[in-house]
Order: sequence, then C-alpha cells, then structure tokens
Amino acid sequence: MKKRFLIAGGAVLLAGVVVGVVLWRTWSTPGLASSGPATGYAPLKLDEADVVQRFAGAVKLHTVSTGEAPPSAEDLDAFHAYLAQQFPRVHHELQVEQVGHGALLFTWKGQDAAAAPIVLMAHQDTVPVDVDTRSRWSRDPWSGEVADGVVWGRGALDDKASLVSILEAAEQLLQQGFQPKRTLYFAFGSDEERGGEQGAIAIVALLKQRGVHAQLVLDEGGAYTNGLMPGVAGDLAMVGIAEKGYVSVTLSVQANGGHSSQPPPQSAIGILSQALVRLEAKQMPARLAPTATAMFDALAPLLPFSARMAVRNRWLLGGVLIGQLSKTPSGNAMVRTTTAETTFNAGVKDNVLPTVAKATVNFRILPGDSVASVLEHVRNVIADPRVTVTPGGEQNEPSPTSPVNGEGLQLVRKTIGQVSPGVPVVPYLVTAATDASHYVPVSAEQLRFVPYHLTPTTIERFHGINEGIPVIDYLNCVQFAAQFMRNAAG
Ligand SMILES: [Zn+2]
Repeated sequence: MKKRFLIAGGAVLLAGVVVGVVLWRTWSTPGLASSGPATGYAPLKLDEADVVQRFAGAVKLHTVSTGEAPPSAEDLDAFHAYLAQQFPRVHHELQVEQVGHGALLFTWKGQDAAAAPIVLMAHQDTVPVDVDTRSRWSRDPWSGEVADGVVWGRGALDDKASLVSILEAAEQLLQQGFQPKRTLYFAFGSDEERGGEQGAIAIVALLKQRGVHAQLVLDEGGAYTNGLMPGVAGDLAMVGIAEKGYVSVTLSVQANGGHSSQPPPQSAIGILSQALVRLEAKQMPARLAPTATAMFDALAPLLPFSARMAVRNRWLLGGVLIGQLSKTPSGNAMVRTTTAETTFNAGVKDNVLPTVAKATVNFRILPGDSVASVLEHVRNVIADPRVTVTPGGEQNEPSPTSPVNGEGLQLVRKTIGQVSPGVPVVPYLVTAATDASHYVPVSAEQLRFVPYHLTPTTIERFHGINEGIPVIDYLNCVQFAAQFMRNAAG
C-alpha cells in the first residue's frame, strides 16, 4: 500500500516537473533572430525608371532552356551583348569570361589577396512558355512590359531579377569608386533549368582548376515569404541553408505475356502495382534534420502558443511535431525523403497480357539520407525478386547544411536587417534543386536567397503563368545586392 502510494506520488511529481519544464521552455523562448537596427546603411540613389528599363530589356530576350537543349549560342550571345551595352563599367573594369556553353564569370579583384572570395550566383536561362497556356497570360511573356507596378515576362522572377540586379549594383558601386577588399565573383550559369552541366558545373571546374576556395556562394532558392508558413503572419526572410538530393528509380517487371483468356494469378501490372503500393505505404522515416531544427528555432517566437510549445520542447513533443508536419505535402517534404510515383507504362491491348510493366518513382532526399540508402529502402520494401530496380542517371546527394552561425548567414542577416529592417531571418531546407549545390567543392557555405516577396499567389508564377516581379521588389534586389557586396567586401 505504502509502496504504491510512493510510486503514485513520484509519478505526480515527475508529471509536474515535465509540465513545468515544457511551460518554462515555451515562455522563455528567445526573441527574434532578426537583425538589429539598420546602422551603417545608405541606400543607392537610383534613377529608378532607367534601372527598371535596363532590367525589362533583359526580360525581353529569349534565353530558353527546353527539354531538349539549353539556350542557343546565338541567343546567349545576344543576351551577353545586351548586358555589355547596359553595364559598360562592369564589363570594362571586371574580368569577364565565357565558360562552357555561354556561362559568364565576372571577377572583381579584391585588394586583399588572402581573403576568401565571395560568389554571387544567378542563371541566364529560363523555362519556356507553355504554348497551351499562352492565352492565359495577361501580358505578352516576352514583352518585358512594365504595367501596374510590375515588370512582366518569363524569367522576371526566375532568375533575371537576381542576375541583372547584381550587375546593376556593381555598376552603381563602380560609379561611386567602390573597390572590394576581397574578390567578388559573379557566376551566371546558362543551363540551370537543365541541371547546370554546361554552365555552373563548367564554372566550378574552372574555379577548382584555379585553386579558388570561396567563403560562400549566394544563389536563388529563398525569398521573403508571406502567408506560406501556417500560423505566422507578416514577412519572413527564408534563407536556404541546404537542398535536398534527387534520384529517380525505374521499377520494371518482365512477364511471358500471352492471351488474356488464361491468365496467371498475377500479371506484370499486378506485380508492379503491388510494389508501388508498398512503397507509398512504407515511406522513408521522418525526422527533424538540422535544417528543420534551425528553422523552428528561428520561427519559435512568432508561433502561436501550442505550436511554440511543440517546437520548443522537441525533446518531448518531437514526435507530435513530425506527425503534424507529415500531414501536409510541404511539411512532409521538410521532414522526410519523399516518394513520388510519377510514371506508369504497361499493356498494349485489352485482351493481351503485358510482357513488361514499368514505373518511375522520384525521391527527394533529406540531408542525412543518401542515394544508396534510398535504393536500399526501395529493395527492402518491395522485397520481390520479380521487380527490377534501376536508379536513373540524374542523381544528386543532398547538399551539406551550411552553418547557422557561419559568416555567410551573418552577412545575409546583416544585409536584410539594413535593407528590410525587422524582418525575421529563417534558415530552411530548399526542397527543389538549384545550381548552388554544384559549388560545394569550391566554397565553405552555400546560401540561397533573393529579396523578392512570394505569397501563395505569386509563388505560382515560378515556371507558371503571368510571371512578373513588382518594380519595388526589383529595386530592392538592387539595393540588397549592393549592400551585400559592401558588407562582404567593403
Ligand atoms: Zn531559377
């Protein structure tokens, strides 16, 4: 009796301690990791109409990567000629090289040869305009029209705003007589939309050959978002500190075929379908990778009480948090390697048994998993020797995660604090692929951020209909690029 009483008392005490710790951790959440007051910042004085027209001219030019080919050499030549004409100082005072298939590498030599350089990245190519959706564009996608406070056109967001704003910022800084202390590279790939083989990868090979090791590269892949993070109001500066890996796996089943009047118990289609059902039912395990914990640490002060309690007490409520995140496609993509069954082909006629059935499954790999661990998972879950598993040619391991307290993120944080004071900076995992991951061999940190604003509506414009960037956002890109160069190399 007495023993039971003691155990019960101990349990109540323990529960009290747990509740106390949970509440204390929730209430004692540190404040925002946003940038302090905007000290030491003087915006460029821009002739805004001129600056916007220079950008709009670049949007008019076709630099399209298709499924078959990167932009043509002629299209890239015309784009380069336009940039040289619009940004004469940059082209006169910096070293300009063409690398691979029309990729551009600008070198702005710093005075301190010992300081690790900084690379600002962007890409010249765009995706095509889908002919079937052409009539749903409210403006001509190749007009570069400036209307309703927006520069409209394919590539305005992805990624010419970044590319042209970097050159504009450098042109303005040169005009002011700015000389960087450490070397700045501007590296503009030509085939990012096709994986970067003839653009970014060629530039990286050249930098490697020259023994360059940069402190950081800054590429696209993050932005100011508003309304994209459930439960959080206002702008967030989402900065990509890592990106997921990629592998597609082909599953195939061979069978004897024959007449459908006397079928075997399972056809090739049945065998393959069973394998696919198993893969969807048993996905790779979910977990909070360092990218997710970094994001939640930054978001915690902004979250409603119950969500804050979960993210601040991951030691106890981590499982609940993962369970909640797993319920939405975007949350799920944050916490696990995703399984997407994307193609299925089999059969030729209703009364003929198929001799082959094939399907493709696309995996986006969470940092910590690997191409090898995905393949092992696939074979173990299917557990059927009749199904052949073949990985596709395009494979990327997940990128390393850049340090949350590294020099790179501190520079980005400082610049955001000056150009857009008070906006919280949130490190996160980029679930799509960018050129930045190619730079791992030649840089210590890879970060992904371009300072335009994305909402649930405007994010659809990426690769979509009515792509365009508000003029105010483009001007902000120029100010950000200039201030980032000053902070990094001034
Ligand atoms: Zn892009």
